[in-house]
Amino acid sequence: MKTILVTGGMGFIGSHVCVSLLEQGLHVIIVDNLCNSNTEVLNRIDQITGKKPLFYPVNLLDEDALSAVFKRHNIDAVIHFAALKAVGESSCIPLSYYYNNITCSLVLFNVMEKYKVFNLVFSSSATVYGEHNPIPYVENYPLSATNPYGRTKVMIEEILQDAARADPRWNISLLRYFNPIGAHPSGLMGEDPNGIPNNLMPFITQVAVGKRDALNVFGGDYPTKDGTGVRDYIHVVDLALGHIKALEKLIASPNNNCVRSNSISAYNLGAGKGYSVLEVVKAFEKASGKKINYVISPRREGDLAEFFADVSKASEELGWKVERSLDDMCEDAWNWQSKNPEGYLS
Ligand code: NAD
Ligand code: UDP
Repeated sequence: MKTILVTGGMGFIGSHVCVSLLEQGLHVIIVDNLCNSNTEVLNRIDQITGKKPLFYPVNLLDEDALSAVFKRHNIDAVIHFAALKAVGESSCIPLSYYYNNITCSLVLFNVMEKYKVFNLVFSSSATVYGEHNPIPYVENYPLSATNPYGRTKVMIEEILQDAARADPRWNISLLRYFNPIGAHPSGLMGEDPNGIPNNLMPFITQVAVGKRDALNVFGGDYPTKDGTGVRDYIHVVDLALGHIKALEKLIASPNNNCVRSNSISAYNLGAGKGYSVLEVVKAFEKASGKKINYVISPRREGDLAEFFADVSKASEELGWKVERSLDDMCEDAWNWQSKNPEGYLS
């Protein structure tokens, strides 16, 4: 049985990926410092899969503590989610973002090298396409970013490109997520942001349960189908299955752990089509039967009008594409929020 180390596995996306890994019969070890998550996640994973991953409450900045995990277990591959991820906050406290996201990645990659673990799936983001590339975004576009959070993703991708160029034992998948929303269909796991949600779907679900009065729709005058921003929303369970496909490709690589040519590939994980903010609101109202009050507000600084993925590379090379619709995303997000109005502390 292969052993997969999941950094940040207690978070929104990591927890869904852990469920998929356990359902594939893989052995899962989570390292997470709980700075944006809760140990209740472990009980929920257990309720869904009948299995509890091994959990180490370790900060990735702590090289000794991380090394002890690698020393103790025979790890076959790492999926690296751990990061701070709030775009707006990253402009207010950039040094904390660079320190946490870059340093913990460097510590991790060095420990991986020391223990000869070279299979890595890295959580990147569509934010690495910056603001000047035409849509749909294709993996070979030049990378840039408009905020410190995005720059940490560009920098880590570049660090990994250099590492793979220098040492062909590295076997790396860079997964660029578009807009993950939704929740596990059981209603046991979902997105549980601290404080006021930054992202669209958790804000909508909190309006639906009465925690917020109205959604601010950021911008009604974009050159899009209805004037509101357009994004490529992807169900978090489809996203999780994309990780399984990426991991299968790494582990099945015939040259795995032998000397071979450089192996690092980026893949867009999205649905390949865009929905506007108002289309998401309407789909959510249909799924939940709740009216979502909204007000058209000024544009949010740094937002782009519209972007979505070209998903042909993931389809051709990983054999992956999304199976869940916007309606499924809204139904599952509502199922989670209505059963857990206070998130994991409900
Ligand atoms: P999340 O905040 O729910 O999960 C991240 C986890 O990492 C948390 O459990 C947190 O406690 C942990 N963590 C952070 N710093 C750590 C450290 N130094 N040591 C140990 N653990 C640490 O975020 P998420 O939405 O699940 O995102 C997971 C990854 O996907 C992140 O790298 C994020 O940048 C990336 N991503 C997310 C989105 C999105 O919309 N959610 C989009 C694109 C990319
Ligand atoms: N959005 C909005 N109100 C909110 C949060 C987001 O209108 O309270 C819009 C945002 O302007 C963008 C879309 O919803 O057009 C998705 O935003 P989100 O923050 O979820 O993801 P992003 O694409 O910015 O990473």
